[in-house]
Amino acid sequence: MMYTDRIKQLQTWLASQSADIAYISEPQHIAYFTGYLSEPHERVLALFVSANQPPFLFTPALEVTDAQNSGWPYDVVGYLDNQKPYELIKKEIQQRFKAPAIFALEKDNLTVQRFEALQAAFPDAKFSVDITPFMQKLLLIKSETEIQQLLAAGDWADVAFEVGFKAIKAGATEEEIIAEIHYHLQRNGVSSMSFDTLVLAGENAASPHGTPGKTAVKQNELVLFDLGVIWQGYCSDATRTVAFHEPTAFQKEIYETVLEAQLAAQAAVKPGITAAQLDKIARDVITNRGYGEYFNHRLGHGIGTTVHEYPSIVEGNDLVLEEGMCFSIEPGIYIPDKVGVRIEDCVAVTKDGCIPFTKTPKDLLIIQ
Ligand code: MN
Ligand code: MN
Repeated sequence: MMYTDRIKQLQTWLASQSADIAYISEPQHIAYFTGYLSEPHERVLALFVSANQPPFLFTPALEVTDAQNSGWPYDVVGYLDNQKPYELIKKEIQQRFKAPAIFALEKDNLTVQRFEALQAAFPDAKFSVDITPFMQKLLLIKSETEIQQLLAAGDWADVAFEVGFKAIKAGATEEEIIAEIHYHLQRNGVSSMSFDTLVLAGENAASPHGTPGKTAVKQNELVLFDLGVIWQGYCSDATRTVAFHEPTAFQKEIYETVLEAQLAAQAAVKPGITAAQLDKIARDVITNRGYGEYFNHRLGHGIGTTVHEYPSIVEGNDLVLEEGMCFSIEPGIYIPDKVGVRIEDCVAVTKDGCIPFTKTPKDLLIIQ
């Protein structure tokens, strides 16, 4: 069974680190090990895995039934809003496991406040082991099942593009186009986006992570869409830039440069190439056309149960790509006050190339 196998991998690693208990705090990582996905907000959701005893999931009381029904085969312990979660956690851990001497924590995720509460509950324990590097490696290679899930999440991003492109008309604002996309997705059972949807019109797209607002699309401008959904626990992330009426020669030149960079990198993906080499292939295309300074971010990031994970496709990362690694290829050119273009697909490395999770065409679409 998939989840028990994953727990076993974590237990083996824990033993290798001489750590007694892993505290998994990142909700998407909890879902990776348990099959139960939840965003508990300010409440505590935690997975405690000991090296040699059955693990238990700790949730707000109102989630216990859902967690039990998710297929998680081990115990679920709930706490009420009027109870102190870390006191209960202490009690459960003391009853189930031997007195823990060393905890392993997700140091890139656990808040200082929660860490201090845990420390107060276990004043004699050490918190010296960081789970983060292990998680990054564990999540790096995706199984065939996971790739199918990423493909399904990608299909919804393609649907979102189709809806978004249809919503472009004279006077439509960025916010209105986003609302159309979300309305359609929600009506069809997709309730979460993997990040805040970006629709950026004209020069607003010159900020890679701009904030959509009341700007209306104008004729002879480009419109950038960057979006993705969470579908059955897996994320999609894709970007398309389209033209509203005939683009200028300059806009076309920028677009064609980004497209060439994106296609060159995507065509070069195969086992054996490094992350840095892939970044350079795309960057060289843009630099050779004189726009290198306007491509001001890495080529890509890993994707899976989270929208940004390993591997990082960036200069200096000599990681050799292997079959099953999944990441974005998203070159862009951003010239302040003028134009912004990004084109992004996430892909899975295959035996001899890659498959993209999104299939919306990348030739410049001109919407009349
Ligand atoms: Mn991305
Ligand atoms: Mn994106």
